[in-house]
Amino acid sequence: MSTTEKELRHDVALANRIIERFGLATGFGHASARVPGTNTFYISTRRSPGFADENDLLLIDNDGKVLSGNGQPNSEFWIHARIYAARPEVNGVVHAHPLACVSLTQIGQPHRVVHNMGGAFLDGVPEYERIGLIRSRELGDEVAQSLSTRPAVMMRGHGITTAFSNVRAATVAACFLEESAELQMRMLAAAGGDASKIRAFTREEAELVRDQTGPDAAARGRAWEYYAAVAAARPIGG
Ligand SMILES: [Zn+2]
Repeated sequence: MSTTEKELRHDVALANRIIERFGLATGFGHASARVPGTNTFYISTRRSPGFADENDLLLIDNDGKVLSGNGQPNSEFWIHARIYAARPEVNGVVHAHPLACVSLTQIGQPHRVVHNMGGAFLDGVPEYERIGLIRSRELGDEVAQSLSTRPAVMMRGHGITTAFSNVRAATVAACFLEESAELQMRMLAAAGGDASKIRAFTREEAELVRDQTGPDAAARGRAWEYYAAVAAARPIGG
């Protein structure tokens, strides 16, 4: 295994532990990374992402075949497999069940850019309306179609999936999206449920903050460093 692949496995395990430690997932949820230039990706086994271990990952291909590793993949691995198949430029995918994002889907409120960290989502976050788990290739293809060329999709009554150029950015984006949705929910409540009172950013404002705080840049800098440090310092049972 190359050094790069070892680093990739380290990042995948850490990304999984981050989404659990930061409340985006509990027993369920998963982060993955494509082996660059291939149709294969590393993903955690069928346990809470909080237990993910870089020496205990599975290598799967876009057709769902397990190529190496021990154990069963998470039942929703098709989300990852079919997004990698549809989006050659995507090398990192995170699927989680964060509460504020799920809440937005269930009150029919589309995501809006309401603070600096939401800028990456200025083109809108599409919704995948069908409820239930994504346990087949066909449903994985449906989610990938809903996502289209965007960086994230909300899944009604279920969760979110983010797709970026690397797993660090996908992880930071998932955290930013939930932070954004949480703020939007608070603003909506403070506004008495009147969404028109929320001063959502204009496109120009959103572009400005996207350039300043976008997950690709944040993943290279202090956002990933912070999330990684917290996850490492507070492991499950630690
Ligand atoms: Zn799920």
